[in-house]
Amino acid sequence: MSLSSSTYTLTRQIPRMKTYDLVVAGGGPAGSAAAISAARLGAEVLLIESTGALGGMGSNALVSYWYCLANNVEAVAGGIVPELCEQLYQRNYSDPSRGPEYWTKHKRGFGFQAEGLKLLLDEFCEGASVDVRFDSRVIDVDVDESGTLIRGVILHNVEGYHYVPCHTLIDATGDAKVCDMAGAPSYRAGQDTEHIMPPTLCAAIVDIDYSRFDRELQQPLVDQAVREGFFSQPDRHVPGLFRNGEDSAILNAGHLFDLDALDSKSLSAGYAQGRKYAEEYIQFFRQYVPGCEQAKLVTTGTLMGIRESRRVQGEYSLKREDFMSRRQFPDQFGIYCKQVDIHAYAATDEEYERVFRDFDHLAKPADGESYGLPYGMLVPKGWQNLWVAGRCASTDVFVNGAIRDQPACMMMGQAAGSAAVQRLQSGEAACELNTETLVESLRAQGAIVPQEELSREMTREETALPVA
Ligand SMILES: Cc1cc2nc3c(=O)[nH]c(=O)nc-3n(C[C@H](O)[C@H](O)[C@H](O)COP(=O)(O)OP(=O)(O)OC[C@H]3O[C@@H](n4cnc5c(N)ncnc54)[C@H](O)[C@@H]3O)c2cc1C
Repeated sequence: MSLSSSTYTLTRQIPRMKTYDLVVAGGGPAGSAAAISAARLGAEVLLIESTGALGGMGSNALVSYWYCLANNVEAVAGGIVPELCEQLYQRNYSDPSRGPEYWTKHKRGFGFQAEGLKLLLDEFCEGASVDVRFDSRVIDVDVDESGTLIRGVILHNVEGYHYVPCHTLIDATGDAKVCDMAGAPSYRAGQDTEHIMPPTLCAAIVDIDYSRFDRELQQPLVDQAVREGFFSQPDRHVPGLFRNGEDSAILNAGHLFDLDALDSKSLSAGYAQGRKYAEEYIQFFRQYVPGCEQAKLVTTGTLMGIRESRRVQGEYSLKREDFMSRRQFPDQFGIYCKQVDIHAYAATDEEYERVFRDFDHLAKPADGESYGLPYGMLVPKGWQNLWVAGRCASTDVFVNGAIRDQPACMMMGQAAGSAAVQRLQSGEAACELNTETLVESLRAQGAIVPQEELSREMTREETALPVA
């Protein structure tokens, strides 16, 4: 141990666990899908999750609602995603008013109970023999001399510190924490836009009378309440209530402006403020919105609803022009159809005008349209056995506003898990992987990968990325 004025050096001997084929850091939508798909393909997988349940935002943050599973013509999300939808529906964990057409045809959302998702992901992991460690956090990585190969991770849990050697590693922490610790370049939210899209602490609500509730009334009633000075913050944009059960909903309201999710002090203050906002919004719904007079708040999320924190610089960065042209790629591992959804950066009239104008009109994919998700967005530039999956994958900030939704994150996870297994079998580097083989493997797993032409080489960045 050594102590200087501003730093502290920690040196200690720690137990070494057995070597895993694959370690997945983070058990949200991306990490769970990655671990399950790799284990099903035969890999010995350790899934490390810092909370006590899988599902990430879909469970612990109470964002129990999946958008854009289909494009109003056909399904876009394949693989593990429809398997989960089917089970949530069969076991009555989903909005009873929405059946299979909501993951095979309709674009509108599919709401479900957080508890159902937690149980199913436990079952899927058990069925695939994924070794899951809850209440465990990846706190460091061991990188070899080349700077492009992971040798293992350090985790911390109730037993203390452990070293876990691994052949491959997937960063599914949502915040690219592992990539950052490994030294893979990334963008921090606000770095390339000067703003951070605000998080929201979501809540679970019950006792809504859906026979009298009209979703479309929420926004005008929020406008009225803001004019009447009802809220402590004049936040004019309310995503609102999203039905996820007989009389229940998730509440997505109350932007936490200027919160930096990569700053623990800011994040901590945000949780406390988010709980205050949830109380205000439940009072608003009871007072203003028909069908919500008896509404009760069950709980707020135990994870912050983070929209933007860090994005890795990958072999390819999915960009605005790709989205606008609905670009399809020979190496795409999936397709998606969510519009760009960039919330107000501040509670100003200009920002709300932009949000209301953009959300409905900003190159919203038309019925039947989709854009491709290329493999390079999952590979931190130059790395041999490290992938990133989920909202921290490689995109510009614009596209991040579309692909951060959970179905896309699960598709990224499944692709990263399959790519890790391909490396284990062939020895190929992540940044040199034969993407034709990967696409064929994903097709065999039920992924929707419609491109006719395949390519052994991934689509790469044509120009060098600026170093962050
Ligand atoms: C308010 C809000 C509303 C949204 N609405 C929708 C919607 O309606 N529909 C939709 O589909 N999507 C929606 N989204 C987007 C979506 O929920 C997230 O972008 C998505 O969950 C990201 O998935 P992920 O797997 O990348 O990360 P996360 O869901 O954040 O999961 C990351 C996991 O990693 C764990 N973790 C983090 N660090 C470590 C570590 N060091 N060691 C171990 N574990 C770690 C976390 O505990 C967490 O479980 C919304 C997001 C927000 C914030």
